[in-house]
Amino acid sequence: MSLAQKMSGLPIFLAYSVVMEEEAAERHDELADVMDVHNNPEVAATFRKLAHYSRLHAQEIREQSVKLELPKIAPWDFEWEDGEPPETADPGAVDYLMNRSKALRLAMENEQRAHDFYAVISREAPSAEVRELAAEFADEEQEHLDLLVEWRKRIPEDEEETPFDPDPPHMPE
Ligand code: ZN
Repeated sequence: MSLAQKMSGLPIFLAYSVVMEEEAAERHDELADVMDVHNNPEVAATFRKLAHYSRLHAQEIREQSVKLELPKIAPWDFEWEDGEPPETADPGAVDYLMNRSKALRLAMENEQRAHDFYAVISREAPSAEVRELAAEFADEEQEHLDLLVEWRKRIPEDEEETPFDPDPPHMPE
């Protein structure tokens, strides 16, 4: 059974959504920190905005959930399809050398995954209530993605993927 097919009611759907949004907020903050290091305050501000949206969303979900009694699911008991919440960059992917074009691409991948997560649920969940709310959430993620697509357009195609680092960190092999 896919994860979407397990979304039999609002409590389980919201329990998953809140974790995803909180993780997403952290990932966006990490990307913003990297952009601060790179002196890219505008891109950093965009990521902070996305982090803020995710936190706001998580907060709304928590408020909506007060009466619902969300199932208490231990972190290791979540059955994410890839072992991790979908709006999560792969943990090794954020590094301090990352330039804004790579950071934006990573953020776009995150938003795309979040969108797809909700979109699949909006089609396949057995509960109509869940499908409806998931469709709304998918739209929100699409808006986040659009914001990043706009940003990406403003960056020259040939911007280097990896900026030169005169003093590379000593990584243990
Ligand atoms: Zn998002």
